[in-house]
Amino acid sequence: MVIVTKTTIERQKLDTMVQDFRNLGLEVDIIEGTGSIVLGLIGDTHQLDADRLLLDPDIERIMRVQEPFKKASRKFHPEATVIDVNGVSIGDGKSFVVMAGPCSVETEEQILTVAKSVKSNGASILRGGAYKPRTSPYSFQGLELEGLELLKKARKETGLPIVTEIMCPSLVEVFNENVDIIQVGARNMQNFDLLKELGKIEKPILLKRGLSATIEEWLMSAEYIMAGGNHNVILCERGIRTFETYTRNTLDLSAIPAVKKLSHLPVVVDPSHSAGMSWMVEPLSLAAMAVGADGIIVEVHNDPKNALCDGAQSLDLDQYGALMDKLGNMSVHFGKKCYKI
Ligand code: PEP
Ligand code: MN
Repeated sequence: MVIVTKTTIERQKLDTMVQDFRNLGLEVDIIEGTGSIVLGLIGDTHQLDADRLLLDPDIERIMRVQEPFKKASRKFHPEATVIDVNGVSIGDGKSFVVMAGPCSVETEEQILTVAKSVKSNGASILRGGAYKPRTSPYSFQGLELEGLELLKKARKETGLPIVTEIMCPSLVEVFNENVDIIQVGARNMQNFDLLKELGKIEKPILLKRGLSATIEEWLMSAEYIMAGGNHNVILCERGIRTFETYTRNTLDLSAIPAVKKLSHLPVVVDPSHSAGMSWMVEPLSLAAMAVGADGIIVEVHNDPKNALCDGAQSLDLDQYGALMDKLGNMSVHFGKKCYKI
């Protein structure tokens, strides 16, 4: 349940009200905005009589939150969440953030070349997998800790914050110490033990939508992280599995406005894993901006033909530059900051 009170409510009365709710076993989160004070009540609110509460002149509105996710819900938290990653602001409605880099970190030369190039072409964050969730156990599994070290080196040389995927709870501490955004991949969206551990830290989490997850299931996974206390969740639509086989996945563009309506969390699009083909990455990226995404995470490789992972969907350095030109032009119309404007 969400209770909106007038800002003129006396502090002592507000404190008593909050304490009364807590005495009923409810968790109360207080959000103080400029125009109102919002109380988010979590727990069994059926015991409360909304009509009686509304008799209080200091209570302006009461809404029952139907969705099973509460902390992720926009009803509970009307203002957009803006996540700051070393000065890069994600979800502020004014910028379109581009995270770019290879599917996997392969060598020092590769990651440094790609990092410097994407940086000079307007990327704000460097992506790169060190631990890879591959369908086949015989495929390249990533450089693991060595990969993290190489990403750190690239961060040092370029100043770009780094985002990389975690696969198991035992690595949370290492990731928390070493990376700027921790990515939870599609295959781990419902790895609840992992989500619970990520809830205990404050590091921003990029939560990808599961291959067959509904929007509600996806937001429930965000809720897992937030329930633990970590509210820094960035959602990522990366395509879902449908009957269509032409593309690797089907990019659910409608999920962006849907999630924006349902939740206050930032949402970005991964056009690379959606398409599976590099030539489709540009139109899908432009579409992501058009439907209101806060940014994209895109795969870029200095030599896609010889990439150890996902070469077919990776842009080469020039294609990435061309994409940024188009995004820059388009961003003028959408009033968003994106490189090259
Ligand atoms: C990735 O980003 O490299 C990746 C494996 O993505 P997803 O989890 O969306 O498949
Ligand atoms: Mn990939």
